[in-house]
Amino acid sequence: MTRRFSCKMCSHCCSGEPGFVFLSESDIERASDELGLCKDEFLSLYARRIDYGTYYLYSLKERDDYSCIFLSKKGCEIYQSRPVQCMTYPFWPGLCDSDQAWNEEKRNCPGLDSGKEYDEKEILHLMEESRKNVPYRLEKGDDFAF
Ligand code: SF4
Ligand code: SF4
Repeated sequence: MTRRFSCKMCSHCCSGEPGFVFLSESDIERASDELGLCKDEFLSLYARRIDYGTYYLYSLKERDDYSCIFLSKKGCEIYQSRPVQCMTYPFWPGLCDSDQAWNEEKRNCPGLDSGKEYDEKEILHLMEESRKNVPYRLEKGDDFAF
């Protein structure tokens, strides 16, 4: 399997409609380090809790227009330490390994099927990175995230 992808920097995937950028523990660590914050400060400033019944996950905050809190006119303000969910797009399990899902996703991303060709090894590596990046989970009743 090969796929072609080249980001056109249109920012569509960082704005436009409601969505989730779920954060793993290492995502939180990298971004808070870059911003010079402790993890609790980072979470309270930039993340929101999503209620999953018995536990919460953390997703980046959105502005009123649904753009990501880190999207600026120059692009992603934490590009070097952006979450793995952003870093591995569109090589997500269920998206890049399904022709149907890939073709449907073209409506959302003009970078699909253009530019660099990714070989199977690269695709499997990115899919594995995405799979390994389990969102940080806070059980209800636990007061402190870290
Ligand atoms: S929608 Fe696609 S082309 Fe546009 S910024 Fe996102 S990944 Fe890049
Ligand atoms: S963290 Fe950066 S790349 Fe990810 S959605 Fe926000 S602005 Fe886009």
